[in-house]
Amino acid sequence: MKDESFERFALTLDQVGQTSSKLEKVRFLAEYFSTLSPAALASACRFILGKESDKGDVGVGWSTTMRAIRELRGIRGDEMRRLYLEFGDVGSSVEKIFSSKIQIQLGKPEPLTITDVQQVFDKMAESTGPGSSEVKKKFLVGLYARMDGKQAKYLTRILNGELRIGATEGIVLDALGKAFNNEEVRNWYLIVGDVGALAAKLSRRDTSPPEPDYFRPVAFMLALPLQDSAEVAKHFGKPVFAEYKYDGVRLQAHVKDGQVHLYSRRMEDVTRSMPDVTASLSAAKVNMILDGEALAFDEGKPISFMMLQRRLHRKNLSQDVLRAIPVHYFVFDLLKLGDSSLLGSSLSQRKNRMKSLNLEGNVRMAYHWTVASPEEIEKLFRRSRDEGYEGLVLKDPISAYTPGRRGGSWAKLKEELDTLDVVVVGAEYGNGKRAGLLSDLTFAVWDDDELKTIGKAYSGLTDDEIKNMTELLQRIKIRETWNGVIVPPSIVLEVAFDSIQKSTRHESGFALRFPRIKRVRDDKKPEDADTVERVRQIFGHQFSNR
Ligand code: AMP
Repeated sequence: MKDESFERFALTLDQVGQTSSKLEKVRFLAEYFSTLSPAALASACRFILGKESDKGDVGVGWSTTMRAIRELRGIRGDEMRRLYLEFGDVGSSVEKIFSSKIQIQLGKPEPLTITDVQQVFDKMAESTGPGSSEVKKKFLVGLYARMDGKQAKYLTRILNGELRIGATEGIVLDALGKAFNNEEVRNWYLIVGDVGALAAKLSRRDTSPPEPDYFRPVAFMLALPLQDSAEVAKHFGKPVFAEYKYDGVRLQAHVKDGQVHLYSRRMEDVTRSMPDVTASLSAAKVNMILDGEALAFDEGKPISFMMLQRRLHRKNLSQDVLRAIPVHYFVFDLLKLGDSSLLGSSLSQRKNRMKSLNLEGNVRMAYHWTVASPEEIEKLFRRSRDEGYEGLVLKDPISAYTPGRRGGSWAKLKEELDTLDVVVVGAEYGNGKRAGLLSDLTFAVWDDDELKTIGKAYSGLTDDEIKNMTELLQRIKIRETWNGVIVPPSIVLEVAFDSIQKSTRHESGFALRFPRIKRVRDDKKPEDADTVERVRQIFGHQFSNR
């Protein structure tokens, strides 16, 4: 018999939270998942990952939750704070409140099901505008009134976005795979994106490969970094497509019946930051899902990435800004056209379909060449740099679109800018497996005889190197700060980076984008490190072609 009560859900979550073994977590969840109907399973999976509703944000903050609990249980604010300090977690405090006080008698309440909770969440998400917070509070009071301590604890934690039972996305996906005996779950998730929709599909025993859905972003296909044209030629060993590497932001555009949504690489909806691109796409006569790069672009040339960033950071985009920083969307892939998924088609087929769309203006198809020899690749690479692009992306013409994978069907070739030799001036303790280690290094360059900070780097050193570095930093420190140490000029690092930006955050007036430590330059003295002047030169040079 199916037991889809919220009580059983809460008990299962408790059981999962009590074991530290990942395998056991997967087993408990898999056993539970296999007993649920598709709809209840979809909700259960979403709830575990802290998502209340696919109708939107339920818009319930801490204060509405507390008002609901106070109204129901007559608890004072200071009492709530005391419990919070005692337990250090809202969910457990709420459990205590619901367990220790006699429940207001409403007769024997009907047990709540997972689906009941889902319906209330959906209604909360749909209620917006003035007075909606009162409506939401009433909904919450209705839910809490029918719950015992354990259920109230997990309801609160779901609303808080964090279940604290160690059930990560990976564990939930593995449990789904185990429950429904399906090894493709992780790959399918990259296409479906929504754990609820995926769970329902599995539970319906639907074994057909999933297709991208409009307005649910698909994970982006990624490129393998290669060193030089010879390596690229060897990697593919045959003629391949080459496109310019655009230094902008990756965008997936979903266009359906005049409605447009744009998604970033992190799957965030960024439609509002690109009203000009959205307007062009909404005029399209066909439904489609496109992949490409949005680039600040004017008079036939790319403009610096910083200008695009400036535009992305604006809250309100005036017509003046849109005119001053025009953005073009260079489309290089087509994932769906009308009702047909093109993920399994070859890249050359996808390019042919793309051509028939006749994209032009500020939404245009990225141009591609066919290249094979190292010389051809090198020549095109130089041309791309001369025209102000970042390098090349090379793609196997017969490859399918593989979401979320850096499988080698796409390769990228870009020039690393010069490296900089910098002096370590401080360090902070890291998190997680780097807790207790001084892994985050702050470094500086010379401005006359003063060191001026230019960035922080977390990556590039091996675990052993970080350990040695921590010992060294501890030995030479001038003093401790609340989360690290300050050290005198002594250690020189060689750092690589993607570009240099102006910045008010660091004393030098510049910041490095994606700095990574290439090596510790034991062979160099602090006096030999680079200067702000050199940074300024590299900065000027990097955009001289744009
Ligand atoms: P990187 O950010 O250096 O790892 O390079 C990969 C990124 O290059 C992709 O995620 C895209 O955002 C970007 N990119 C620029 N031009 C292209 C292109 N023609 N094809 C694919 N990706 C591109």
